[in-house]
This record gives sequence, C-alpha cells and structure tokens, in this order.
Amino acid sequence: MTQPDQTPYRDALLRKRSEILAAGGAAKPLAASTEMNTRQGDLADQASGNNEVHIALKLKQTDAKILQAIEEALIRLDKGTYGICRDCGEPIAPARLNAIPWTRVCITCKEKQSS
Ligand SMILES: [Zn+2]
Repeated sequence: MTQPDQTPYRDALLRKRSEILAAGGAAKPLAASTEMNTRQGDLADQASGNNEVHIALKLKQTDAKILQAIEEALIRLDKGTYGICRDCGEPIAPARLNAIPWTRVCITCKEKQSS
C-alpha cells in the first residue's frame, strides 16, 4: 500500500498546535522557551491547583479539545492510519481533512454523532 503524501496535513496540524499553544502561552510562559516539546498533561495537572489557570483553561476548552485531537492526529500520521474514519473505517474526504486536519471521523459519522 503506497502512502499518499500527508506532509501538508502534518504541517497544518503542527501549525495549528503552535497557534493554540501561543495563544495559551500566558498561562505557562515556560512552554515558549522549552521548544516544541509540549506537555499538556502537566498543564492540566497544574490547572487543578491553580484557579486562574483553571479559568483560563475553561475559556480555552475548545482549544484544549482541538489540541488533544491534533495530538491524536499526529500519532495516527506516525502509525499510518491518518485520514481513516475512526467509526466506520472509511477514508475521510481530502476536502474535510483540508478544512479540519485533526478530524477523527468522516462527515457521515460526524452528522450521525450530532443528531
Ligand atoms: Zn465514518
């Protein structure tokens, strides 16, 4: 099975991740200086003991979800399962991947979920 070129998706994922991390950088200034070696788990742990950060994270809940999805998408890129719908196993349309590179499911399954 030949692997299609998924570099653009990886680039898009990494770029979006940087954007989110940069936007949330105020909560954890160290993140900027420690290269791209991010540790979201630590951030979440610390948040439970820090109200201000907790509120900031709450406001950024959508970003946090996307961040999580991006991490998972990057793992799938490494595994070679990127672009496959998690629910039905069918390939996700490239147009959808271009619009939302971190998506886990195809548009059909997505519509089923939200109904
Ligand atoms: Zn599907």
